[in-house]
Amino acid sequence: MSRGAGIEICGLSKVFRGDTRALDAVDLDVAAGELLVLVGPSGSGKTTLLRLIAGLDEPTAGRIRLGDSDVTGVPPHRRNVALVFQNLALYSHLTVRGNLEFGQQGVTQVAEVANLLGISHLLDRYPAELSGGEQQRVALGRAIVRQPAALLLDEPLSSLDAPLRRGLRRELKKLQRDLGMPTIYVTHDQAEALALGDRIAVLDKGRLQQTGTPDEIYNRPANRFVAEFFGPQGMNCIEGELKRDGGSPTFTASNSGIEWPLSGVAPSQEGRLLCGFRPEDAQSESPATLRGKVASIESLGSAVYAQLDVSGQNGQTSQQLITIQLAPHLELPKLNDPLTIGINPNRLHWFDAATGNRLDSNSEPRTLNPSARA
Ligand code: ATP
Repeated sequence: MSRGAGIEICGLSKVFRGDTRALDAVDLDVAAGELLVLVGPSGSGKTTLLRLIAGLDEPTAGRIRLGDSDVTGVPPHRRNVALVFQNLALYSHLTVRGNLEFGQQGVTQVAEVANLLGISHLLDRYPAELSGGEQQRVALGRAIVRQPAALLLDEPLSSLDAPLRRGLRRELKKLQRDLGMPTIYVTHDQAEALALGDRIAVLDKGRLQQTGTPDEIYNRPANRFVAEFFGPQGMNCIEGELKRDGGSPTFTASNSGIEWPLSGVAPSQEGRLLCGFRPEDAQSESPATLRGKVASIESLGSAVYAQLDVSGQNGQTSQQLITIQLAPHLELPKLNDPLTIGINPNRLHWFDAATGNRLDSNSEPRTLNPSARA
């Protein structure tokens, strides 16, 4: 099959009637052959972006290019873009073959696509005679048989159960790589985004927050929103004050009982900052210590998390909850047990308290600093 050209989106905005700004000046490139996952909470503008690329809605501002052509304003049927929705409708009066061939001339192509999707043995069945996963494969097949210039998938697997979804996701990734067409896959599931994307684009309230590889998004989130959105429990973010007295930096958050010496791992900015760390970066010993009471325990099977109430240090009355991952094979604490844990200082993230934007610490690359290890 031919390799599709890329998608280029420049300054794309969409304001719906009234003043709903569904998309706000989005710039995004998807290379030929790339699988980009577009992720964000409900209402962040994901479907709107796909509909604009497909030509189903007109942008308020901005341009869209597919390969060498500017397709802004071009009607949908002349864009050669395939869009697959979660609740797709197959033609119930047509067999699988009929669904794949609908509007096509290239029957050889149909056989090839059916083979790729592992549905060759289902070609003579009707949609009502297929499982949900098989129907989803037929819908994908119907989209790719046209050899579109771009493949747009809007939560295509979300109606399926978890094992089927995992299996199809892997197949989809391989299929997309084999076909080499630029693909945007929409999901609101951060774990799915990390598992599937060559790159991830994160949307919130119509604004692009970050684009990057799964590793960049998880390990170097561009702002507080991305930090808290990704990870099974998100990132903890504590507001406090960074000061350098006599040159050595200390981070203090009095409502959480925190006073951490941060030699070598502090950002250059001082003042009100957000300190972020992931639940899995809790370790038994470290100069960055947290003390609290166990407020809840949650097991996800492979990992157990505890919420620690770290208030009450300085006569605080409101709860300050921090999520930590408990070390495996240790006896689980009970509710209200006191617990002291350390946070790996080399795994701290820093954000500006006012803007939420990432600040880089002085210690790059982020390797373990032996002097900071207890
Ligand atoms: P979900 O994950 O829930 O599908 P989404 O990220 O796909 O959400 P969109 O469907 O793109 O979000 O909606 C973005 C914003 O635009 C929302 O505030 C929504 O209410 C609004 N919106 C979408 N379509 C229209 C429309 N036709 N008219 C007015 N407002 C709309």
